[in-house]
Amino acid sequence: MTVNSKLNQGLKEYHRKLKAGEIKRAKRISLIEKSKQSPGSFRLAINSKCYECSGFVKVDVTNCEIDECPLYRHRPWQNTVNS
Ligand code: SF4
Repeated sequence: MTVNSKLNQGLKEYHRKLKAGEIKRAKRISLIEKSKQSPGSFRLAINSKCYECSGFVKVDVTNCEIDECPLYRHRPWQNTVNS
């Protein structure tokens, strides 16, 4: 059995369970909501602040040039390859 066929089998099983009501679809929450739910996480706080500051565009956080900002050295997605 190939990896792809295992993945397809798992996906089919997931959809079958969803349809049967055995499981519920995970609710997507925003980074800012995640941060609010984990108020002790500095990483989530910094990530969501930078994300908000950059107009909710991750690549703009990567390309941030405001090196006077206290979060600059801690901003997320610094090593993301732009394509
Ligand atoms: S590091 Fe850049 S993106 Fe993050 S808060 Fe500061 S200015 Fe905004």
